[in-house]
This record gives sequence, C-alpha cells and structure tokens, in this order.
Amino acid sequence: MMSKVKLQIIGSGAIFATDASASALIDDNILVDCGAGTFKQLLRLGCDVAKIDTILITHLHADHFMDVPFMMLAAKKNGQKLTIFLPEGGAKATHEIAKYIWSPEGTTESWWPQNVELVEYQDGVNFTINGATVEPVKVVHGELRASGFIVEKAGKKIGFSGDSIMCDGIKKIVEASDWAVLDTSCPKSGSAIHMGLDDIYGLCHAYPDKKIVATHLFEETRKTIQQDVANLIVPNDGDVFEL
Ligand SMILES: [Zn+2]
Repeated sequence: MMSKVKLQIIGSGAIFATDASASALIDDNILVDCGAGTFKQLLRLGCDVAKIDTILITHLHADHFMDVPFMMLAAKKNGQKLTIFLPEGGAKATHEIAKYIWSPEGTTESWWPQNVELVEYQDGVNFTINGATVEPVKVVHGELRASGFIVEKAGKKIGFSGDSIMCDGIKKIVEASDWAVLDTSCPKSGSAIHMGLDDIYGLCHAYPDKKIVATHLFEETRKTIQQDVANLIVPNDGDVFEL
C-alpha cells in the first residue's frame, strides 16, 4: 500500500489578512515558504521545528522569506541538518537578513550554523531531498524572479504556485499535480502580481480531477469565495490533509 503524504497549511493569508503568511508543511519536514511570522506560527500550531530539514522558498518577498533566520537559529539550537533552497540571489539575501539575528553591524560568520546549507535552485532543474523530488517552475509575479514547485513524494504530486498571475507555469504546475496549493489573493483577476477568484474557479473547472487549495487570501477574498466548488478547498491556518 502506498504511504500517505501529509500536507499542513501553516498560513493561508496575504499580507494584510489576519491569517498567517502563506506557508505549507509536507510530512512535518519540508516547509514551503517561510515568511513574516511563519516561525512563531509553527510554534503556535505545535509543529516540531526540529523535524524541519528542508525549506523551499518560492521568491524573496518578505511574506515568503523573512523568517528564514529564525529557522536557522532553531536549527543551530536543535542540531538537525537544514537545507534551504532559494531562488538566484537568495544566499546573499539570507546573509543580509540573518545578520540582524545576532549583530547588525557585524557579519554572520560568528554564529552561522554549520548544519545549515543554502542552495540556489534553477527553474526546470529538479532536485531530490529525503525521498522527495522537487521541480522549480518559473511563474510570473510582477518583475520579481518567482517560482512555484512540483513536489513528488510517495507517488503523490503537490504543486505550489508561490505568488503568481495566471501563466504557463501555473498551468504546468496544476496539470502535473494531484493537489495544487495556489495563490488566490484577489477577489478578481487583473492584478499584475496575483491570481484572483475567477482564475481559480477557471482552473477548478478545467481540471475537475485535481484538488485546488486556495491560499494567500486577502480577507475580502475569503469572505466572497464560493464554498461549493467541488474540487476547491478553502483551508484555515493549521488544517491538515492526507493525500
Ligand atoms: Zn510576493
């Protein structure tokens, strides 16, 4: 029998929402995005941060990236090997924000955890982590370099859009995945950086055999989203799904 894959929605909110920053956890050890407040949200949900050995960062906006130094600090304390996969430029950016953990005027060298590794990925180049395969897929998020991921584990494929408008990358992610966790920020499409509800309903309709999980929701979007679309899941922070 195929083993199940656990998907936990750590946060489902856009920046101004009261819901936590959009982030998800696979099988308690692979964290997808780690934005402002994600570290404390993991603690509040009772997640064991010492089990997290992999972090995948979709792009370098603060609500997806800013809590990485706290995860590094936890890894230093707990001792597990932690590998952080980042877009191009992510290693330098991590060094820049990490110095504020210890000494804003100094370098990170004095405290940098030896058990933490930073790896910059390339879109379209797969990598393997602890029994899972990850494909980074280019998406369109304004001018910023941004990616989504297709994570394959135990025969299941989970897609993550990161932040994106509707584009070929989003279609590729949804087509390839059994479940897709998608940026559903806006009540309507037309934003230069995020998808809207009509984009998401269109994908639900076009791919009826896929489960679409709405995330990165602004509050007005959560209030107006249709709850009766068969393959659309509107999660609350902390919800756990088994695939
Ligand atoms: Zn963003």
